Amino acid sequence: MGKNIIVAGAGHGGLTAAYHLAKSGYNVTVYEHAAQESDLGYEWEDFFDARTFDEAGLPAPETGMIPKVPISFYGPDPDVEPIRQTFEAGEVEMHMNRKELCAHLIRITRDVGVQFVFGCTIYAPILIGNRIVGIKTSLGDFTADLVIDACGVDSPLRANLPAYLGIQKTLKKFEYIYAYRAYFNRLEGFENVKNEYKTYFVDDGKTGLTWVVTTEKTVDLLIARFEPFGQDEIDRMYKIFKADNPHLGDKLVLGGQITKIPLRRPLAILVADGYAAVGDSACMTVPIAGSGIANSIRAGKILADTVLFDRNEEYSAVTLWKYQRTFFDKIGGSMGLIDMGKGMLLDLKKKDFEFFFNNKILTSEDISFNTNETSAKAMFSHFTPSIIVDRMKKIGANRDLIRRIGGVATRAGRLKLILTRMPDRYNREDVVNWAAKYDRLYNVAPDK
Ligand SMILES: Cc1cc2nc3c(=O)[nH]c(=O)nc-3n(C[C@H](O)[C@H](O)[C@H](O)COP(=O)(O)OP(=O)(O)OC[C@H]3O[C@@H](n4cnc5c(N)ncnc54)[C@H](O)[C@@H]3O)c2cc1C
Repeated sequence: MGKNIIVAGAGHGGLTAAYHLAKSGYNVTVYEHAAQESDLGYEWEDFFDARTFDEAGLPAPETGMIPKVPISFYGPDPDVEPIRQTFEAGEVEMHMNRKELCAHLIRITRDVGVQFVFGCTIYAPILIGNRIVGIKTSLGDFTADLVIDACGVDSPLRANLPAYLGIQKTLKKFEYIYAYRAYFNRLEGFENVKNEYKTYFVDDGKTGLTWVVTTEKTVDLLIARFEPFGQDEIDRMYKIFKADNPHLGDKLVLGGQITKIPLRRPLAILVADGYAAVGDSACMTVPIAGSGIANSIRAGKILADTVLFDRNEEYSAVTLWKYQRTFFDKIGGSMGLIDMGKGMLLDLKKKDFEFFFNNKILTSEDISFNTNETSAKAMFSHFTPSIIVDRMKKIGANRDLIRRIGGVATRAGRLKLILTRMPDRYNREDVVNWAAKYDRLYNVAPDK
């Protein structure tokens, strides 16, 4: 015991692992780019699974649990009724200001002895032979027995690992999305406007997800695009939203920046000797929704358990492989499946969305899952064989759509098989070969 652990970046999963490891006697230091604690996170509110803290064995914040907020999904045709989620009374989720969430995680980790170095920009890993032994930073070099990469989507550690480790260094197009999020004032005088969480699946046929969330005082906009975009696109989308939401004011209250979210299956390989990636740096978001808080925190707990299980304190790829296997078993495999759903959505044209909405192919019950749900099984459990047959009948003559749904089902079957073939033990050659098969499943270019 008394081993040194570096957590690179104050990401949620890294802080979760830090909490458990420091509590068990490890010397844990978090190196974070932000100049100070109060600069961490964003001013906006996020939703995530209410079970997260319990499952990760973390002290829960005192507030944040609210009844689940139903989402209304709007299709391209404004005259067609949206599909609205409905939840049973008593179903809850977490709804927290991101800055408060970060402050909570820092508070509980500091309480168990985790050290923080703020204002420290990490540039690259330090390697001796095949082993990652530390980090190069703006404040100098730091070494440790294990480096936990919680640096987020553009992790400089991951990007500078040697290629032979097989860990994907940079993300490809359609594997991440640019998101603009901003809160505007809510104009008074529109008495009939309800507080509503509207998701526009296809605003005008352009790829990407958008939402307009109306609350008591604000209107929260999200515009997400697979291509980089700027003020022109924001202004264009604002006008479209304004036409449908006249209560949308023009005063920017909070946010207004564009950030990147990984939107794909988890990395095929999460570990190397002396290294483990967690959270956005390992692409652990739910690939359709982009929610990553719950998965990141849960993965942090799995990683800490694996490190604590490593009685010989090797922290090698061989001993850390248990983290990879457990993560994929509990969470990652499902994310792979959801990524296939994302692939299909990307492949759909505006006319396909119109077909879905205009013909009421999906019902409220079909979509009343929690978008922060971490298991594909829970997300799709509603689709019993008889419901699938019913929906296929509704799709009926649209052979092209049936062919594409069939294609996804076939690939989902292949994914299941590939996941069962993940090597039991880490051997670099076997693992790299396995990773190539897993990634090959997703290399289908979107049909645009
Ligand atoms: C607009 C938007 C809305 C979202 N909404 C939700 C939501 O409602 N629910 C949900 O579950 N998820 C949501 N997400 C996703 C969520 O933010 C992430 O999936 C989640 O935070 C997990 O990421 P992380 O903690 O691994 O990394 P991050 O939150 O990105 O943290 C990485 C940390 O590393 C630090 N860092 C980065 N580079 C360096 C460096 N070179 N040197 C030192 N430090 C560095 C950063 O400063 C940061 O503190 C949203 C994301 C965005 C962008």
